[in-house]
Amino acid sequence: MKKQIMAAMLLLALAAPGALADEGMWIPVLIEKYNIKLMQENGFKLTAEDIYSINKASMKDAVVLFGGGCTGEFISDKGLIITNHHCGYGYIHRHSTLEHDYLTDGFWAASHAEELPNPGLSVTILKYMEDVTDRVLQGVTDNMESEKREAIINANITAINAEAVKGTHYLSAVRPFYLGNQYFLIVNEVFRDVRLVGAPPSAIGKFGGDTDNWVWPRHTGDFSLFRVYADKENNPAAYSADNVPYHPAYHFPVSLAGVKEGDFTMVFGYPGRTQEYAPSHHIRMLKDVIYPKQVEIRGKKISIMEQEMANDPLVRLKYTGKSFGLANGWKKWIGEIQSLDRMNGVERKEAFEKEFSEWVSADPGRTRKYGNILSEYAKIYEEYTHNYLVAIYTNEVFGSTGVEPAALAGAFNRAVEIAGQKDTGQKAELEKELQRLSGYADNFFRNFDMNVSKQLFVAVMELYGNNIAPEWQTDAYRELASSAGGDFESVADRLFARSLFTDEAKVKDLISNFNPKKVEKDPFYRMALSSSELIRSRINEKMDAADRRLAELNKLYMAAQMEKGNDKIFYPDANSTLRLAYGKVMGYDSRDAVYHKHQTTLTGVMEKDNPEIYDYDVPDRLRELYEQKDFGRYAVNGDVPVCFIANNHTTGGNSGSPVLNAEGHLIGVNFDRAWEGVASDIMFNPKQSRNISLDIRYALFLIDKFAGAGYLIDEMTLVGEPQHTP
Ligand code: ASP
Repeated sequence: MKKQIMAAMLLLALAAPGALADEGMWIPVLIEKYNIKLMQENGFKLTAEDIYSINKASMKDAVVLFGGGCTGEFISDKGLIITNHHCGYGYIHRHSTLEHDYLTDGFWAASHAEELPNPGLSVTILKYMEDVTDRVLQGVTDNMESEKREAIINANITAINAEAVKGTHYLSAVRPFYLGNQYFLIVNEVFRDVRLVGAPPSAIGKFGGDTDNWVWPRHTGDFSLFRVYADKENNPAAYSADNVPYHPAYHFPVSLAGVKEGDFTMVFGYPGRTQEYAPSHHIRMLKDVIYPKQVEIRGKKISIMEQEMANDPLVRLKYTGKSFGLANGWKKWIGEIQSLDRMNGVERKEAFEKEFSEWVSADPGRTRKYGNILSEYAKIYEEYTHNYLVAIYTNEVFGSTGVEPAALAGAFNRAVEIAGQKDTGQKAELEKELQRLSGYADNFFRNFDMNVSKQLFVAVMELYGNNIAPEWQTDAYRELASSAGGDFESVADRLFARSLFTDEAKVKDLISNFNPKKVEKDPFYRMALSSSELIRSRINEKMDAADRRLAELNKLYMAAQMEKGNDKIFYPDANSTLRLAYGKVMGYDSRDAVYHKHQTTLTGVMEKDNPEIYDYDVPDRLRELYEQKDFGRYAVNGDVPVCFIANNHTTGGNSGSPVLNAEGHLIGVNFDRAWEGVASDIMFNPKQSRNISLDIRYALFLIDKFAGAGYLIDEMTLVGEPQHTP
């Protein structure tokens, strides 16, 4: 009986893939067709044309892909962009030294001349997008061999791209949506002169650190400011002192009006990757095998780094970025496992698959088309799970956050190969490669500490031995382990003393007098080669073949799910293209008897204040402002709003996205999600999936009162009546 009730409950709760009001990351060009009615019913006051238009300035002109993996938005007509502190972090870090430690102290350019250039950083603006499915599939038939099909599709895509950018300085791409069932042409304008304008100290921008990451209630002032520069014609140009601030076609008015529970809100940005339509096998693989192993090894690395960072500010500067990167995934996976368990994620998918199979078998045509999908998945995932684990684990161990010197040594592989070539261009090519390596090595040693690195080495060696079966370990490791007899500490002392790749001067010398023999003899180089050899010879080919087959199955399964649920509107998985999510400002039940409200305040920051704990050490100036209640027009009920949550469907890449109200005014900057619902990349949970945003009023308060940079606020378009209640 209990079993039957459980099954009935599962069916009831079954989130049949498809659109719910709050779930979904929608394609801007299809808002008019699919979403605008529901949005307006939920309070949105504007039109689809206001969001995306090719005929007039619209919101899409104000949203940018910031670098490769974040979002930002224009908040002035002088190219001023706001994004997250954690998105600007790498650039702020690069400008930081112990003397000018902008990470610790913050940075505020007092004039355009003081804004700092960031080579390598780009800002991408969508010009337009267009459904080109028919053109991409021209000449393709259902029963064509997959290689031929691919060749035709590629040729069609090349032609579409060539035509799209002809006579312009735009860049274009044709991207698959709905797992390859539909294609869109995306045409972008890319700006490469992007300068750092302002950032609060990390004690504000990263307040709460890894402890609070992925957690609500949250009190992080997670923002930084940049400015896009263009040539005198307002076109993209390489960095030049003569460039001028870019005039965007549209910038968001910044609202002082704030939010209340139930308000309509939407997030417009670049979500990276979701897997909402994956089969149960995939979720089981991640939840039961891949995530737990990654959580274990990353947890170990992070604890080593954290312990040493607490002892030495220089080590903190070197390892803070690395530990943040590791901890971000580590913590998210823990949350995902828990939230999938809480939702019975795998069982839900299985229940859906059962229903799906019945639907397929009820019709001979469907049986022919879709009858083998699920059984093939079952077969593939068995071996795939193992190979995937070996691939990611080898990378965790021998990649740049494991055996660090092996990662540096491995980077010399190309130079060794070039040095062995006999052709005429060889010398120039080697020269170029060595130049690249010189930059790589500078960066490596800027973030390297011998003591930390040795401890990491010992830890990952031990875990590797325990987690990867001997026949799947690298040759170099097996030799080392048998000679070490379990004593990796002595091995570390020996190897770190002997290797070139632990000593900056020796690496510099190697680059200026390149000798491939020296590289080849190095123990860390051998370790790096051995791991890439293992992956190349035993994993890659199998994974590639499986990935190709999985891509075909995923496409077919997606098409089948859409056919089955043809009364629903489906949103495509995130793929780093511009999307709109909408919903409401909303708290949630966290666990038994605990309800989380939608808004945090400066009082909450002060409640966490603890000078003894690095992540909670509130800067003196902020303490002062709090004590004096010097909140200006940003005060609400004698406090300052700091962050809020809503049920917008977001993921990695949405960091920095504009959070907008019913009038399209900027009320926040998205930066994270709440722990309980973080499995939303795989399964959105309407009850607990919440995106976390910085309340824009906290950013304004910090810029104005904390940093004294009110001149930046002067260039924004402020709107809305402040809820001014001092
Ligand atoms: N914190 C994420 C990011 O960095 C945002 C999210 O996953 O919700 O993009």
